[in-house]
Amino acid sequence: MRENGNIAVHTENIFPIIKKWLYSDRDIFIRELVSNGCDAVSKLKRLASMGEAKVEENEAYYIQVIVNDKDKTLQFIDNGIGMTAEEVKKYINQVAFSSAEEFAEKFKDQKEEGNDIIGHFGLGFYSAFMVSEKVEIDTLSYQEGAQAVKWISDGGMEYQIDTSSRAERGTTITLYLDKDNEDFSGEFKVGEIVNKYCSFLPVPIYLENANPEEDKEEKGEEQETKAPTPINDTNPLWLKKPSECKEEEYKEFYKKVFHDFNDPLFWIHLNVDFPFKLKGILYFPKLKHDFESTEGQIKLFNNQVFVADNIKEVIPEFLMLLKGTIDCPDLPLNVSRSFLQNDGYVQKVSNHITKKVADKLNNLFKNQREDYNKYWQDIHPFIKYGCMRNEKFYDKVKDIIIFKNIQDEYVTLNDYLEKNKEKHENKVFYVTDEQQQSQYINMFKEQEMDAILLPSTIDNHFVQLLEMKTENVSFNRIDSDITDSLKNAQDEGSEEDNKKMQEELEKLFKEVLGSDQLKIQVENLKSQQVPAMILLSEQSRRMQEMSKMFGGMGMPGIMPQEETLVINKNNKLINSIMTLKDVDSKKQQVNMICQHVYDLAMIGHKQLDAKSMTNFIKRSYEILSSVASGE
Ligand code: ADP
Ligand code: MG
Repeated sequence: MRENGNIAVHTENIFPIIKKWLYSDRDIFIRELVSNGCDAVSKLKRLASMGEAKVEENEAYYIQVIVNDKDKTLQFIDNGIGMTAEEVKKYINQVAFSSAEEFAEKFKDQKEEGNDIIGHFGLGFYSAFMVSEKVEIDTLSYQEGAQAVKWISDGGMEYQIDTSSRAERGTTITLYLDKDNEDFSGEFKVGEIVNKYCSFLPVPIYLENANPEEDKEEKGEEQETKAPTPINDTNPLWLKKPSECKEEEYKEFYKKVFHDFNDPLFWIHLNVDFPFKLKGILYFPKLKHDFESTEGQIKLFNNQVFVADNIKEVIPEFLMLLKGTIDCPDLPLNVSRSFLQNDGYVQKVSNHITKKVADKLNNLFKNQREDYNKYWQDIHPFIKYGCMRNEKFYDKVKDIIIFKNIQDEYVTLNDYLEKNKEKHENKVFYVTDEQQQSQYINMFKEQEMDAILLPSTIDNHFVQLLEMKTENVSFNRIDSDITDSLKNAQDEGSEEDNKKMQEELEKLFKEVLGSDQLKIQVENLKSQQVPAMILLSEQSRRMQEMSKMFGGMGMPGIMPQEETLVINKNNKLINSIMTLKDVDSKKQQVNMICQHVYDLAMIGHKQLDAKSMTNFIKRSYEILSSVASGE
């Protein structure tokens, strides 16, 4: 038997297109050829289990990848099902090539950027030609009396098929690498790629170097006694039944796959058979430093073959902050990304994962509240981000979002609102910086009022979402308002006196601080401690923050100085000022005190600018000197 032939379909146009198409991702030919070997073994196993193929009792199935950097060849050997001459003609000459043509036809006009899924599947065997000038198949079918065949093609345009002397069942694919791709005969490079894509394939894979290094050869005897170990884990944890997996196994798997020294916080084992197949494990990692630097990694697999990391068409974007493996055997990967986005199956997968994550969180909240509180610090950015990105997710977790309050307890929004109903209905006070705002916090504590801590960058945006979602409820930073609960109900003194005091203090502070614009508000606070503080309405502060975000272009006119100096007439120092301010000899001292009171109020509100800080420090020393000299 000897036959020469032309590939049945028009391949002239295919090469340039495919080569260009896949240029950025040539590595995938290795995945295609290894997974073909894997398929061949799986098919044989199935036949054997049905009694339709004869195999050894303890048949050791394998895939072998042999690199030869002298000959510049790369071989893929399996002891799977093999092919008859008829099958080679049918599956390689026709199917493989025609699917390649179909592929090229379909996508020649489409250009999509970046790491493309199309490049990942659909080409199969044909992808060998991306890197080879010649490809050889040597194969013997499992069928009794089958004749081994050898198929050779230079460049993929035409083929030659002949009998072979091969005696072992299985297939050997030999690639004669072209000049540009000789580096694919290097052990390290090939090992890396096999590890990337084939780490969890179900058949043991052995990587061999046809030209081992000299020193290894010298120690040959030692080497030979060691049985070679496959480079893959043929039974990845996500395929096991959740009930059969131990906590330690989950942790170990996590550390190995994601190279993280830390244990994960907790995980979700996805195991769906109906209405679609989906298996996987999602881990909640411990946060490194800050939300901003958090980088998740969701590895997508298709029947244990790695496809890619973080494919946003399949996995809800906010889940990318997690780490995990997801195996979708039915994923239609040989289509374009825009198709995936609109595909019903993909939507279902995505919704299912979202629901499972929300269920797990609800479960923790209900049954392991202590742990949930403990995890919160690490998981809150993820949950908040998820809420902002995915409405369904928000609906499912909105009642289990918790906030740390100034008492160091965790409360839900409802808890908080309920608890503070009497004092400030529908108003939530929050702290963004515990140190900076400590004055206000102390005042709140004194009056047994509560505020929640929202220190993260993401909280800014999250607050806006909550306000949108919960009618009537408004969020106010702790320094934005003085509620009645902080004031003495009964004001001593006549209205006349009060008015006079307001006017006098206003005049004094405006003069001393040299600012006509300064807003002053005299209040009778319950707390006697604080002489003065700054208030900035929530609205104004948000505007200021926004303008800062947009490059700090102060929007003149829209951004008036909105800070108000609140002076507490229930404070001793303020009362001293009232008496001293008309004493001529004390003028300078009063000036100093007023300026200092103002600076201290400012410090509690935001950071002083350099000039104010310098003045503040200078003045502090002057005050200390006068204390020392007993003036
Ligand atoms: P696919 O794997 O999607 O079917 P491929 O182009 O990768 O497409 O392979 C085409 C066909 O060639 C396979 O379906 C299979 O029948 C046959 N084939 C490829 N490699 C092998 C192999 N190592 N052993 C047996 N058959 C193979
Ligand atoms: Mg294939």
